[in-house]
Amino acid sequence: MSGVEVYHGHEDGQAGLGIKVVLPATVQDLLDAWQPLCDDQTIFKQYARGHHALCKGCQRNCCATAYVIPDLVSFRRMAEMLGMAYDDFVARYFQAEKLAVGLLRMVPEPCIFLQDNICSIYPVRSLICRFYLCTPLLGRTEQLIYKIAWSGAAATQIFAQQQGLVPAAGPGASSFDRLFLELLDEYRNSSGVASFLAARDYRDISLHHFLEE
Ligand code: SF4
Ligand code: SF4
Repeated sequence: MSGVEVYHGHEDGQAGLGIKVVLPATVQDLLDAWQPLCDDQTIFKQYARGHHALCKGCQRNCCATAYVIPDLVSFRRMAEMLGMAYDDFVARYFQAEKLAVGLLRMVPEPCIFLQDNICSIYPVRSLICRFYLCTPLLGRTEQLIYKIAWSGAAATQIFAQQQGLVPAAGPGASSFDRLFLELLDEYRNSSGVASFLAARDYRDISLHHFLEE
C-alpha cells in the first residue's frame, strides 16, 4: 500500500520521529501524515508549554524567528489568497534588504503574517512552516523534509528570477544569507526543483525526487 506513515523511533540512544514512505506517494501525502503532529500533545516539543502542548497558541512561537523562503506552490497560493500581483506581493511582504542580495525572505521577527500568535495565512503557509516542529527527528527524516522544503524554495527563487521579481544578487549578504544562496544553487538543477516548477498542487509532486537511492 502506498502512502506515508509517522512513527516513533530511536537513533544513537535518542528518541525521535521518523517517517516511512511507500511509493508512489506525494508531498501532499506527507503533509497529511505530518499535520496532526501540531495538534499532538503526547509528543515532546522543546518550546511548548510543559513540553507537551498544541502548536496553536504557542507563546514561544517559532514564527517569531523563522527564516522563511516559501516554496513555489505556497508562494503562488499566498499571492492568490491575498488577491495581489506577484510584484506587489513581493514588495509588501518580503524583506527589502534580503531582496537586495537576491533572496526572497518573508518579513521576519515576527513573521509578517503572525497576528495574535496565530498565522493569518495558515491554509496556504509554506512547507518550511508546515514541517517545522521543535521535536527531535530521525536523521533520514530530517534530511528528507529539508530537501523537499529547500527544493520548493529554490523553485520560488528561479521563478522569481524568471519573472523579474528579484534583482540580481548584490553585495551585503550575511554569512547566513550566503549559506542559503549556496544551498539554493546546489538544488537548482535537481529533478525535485523541476517538479515544483511544473506543479500547481502538492499532489503533483512525487516524493521519489527526494528519497535517497
Ligand atoms: S513547533 Fe513552534 S509552534 Fe509548535 S510548540 Fe514548537 S515553537 Fe511552538
Ligand atoms: S507564514 Fe504563518 S506559519 Fe509561517 S512563519 Fe509566518 S506566521 Fe508562522
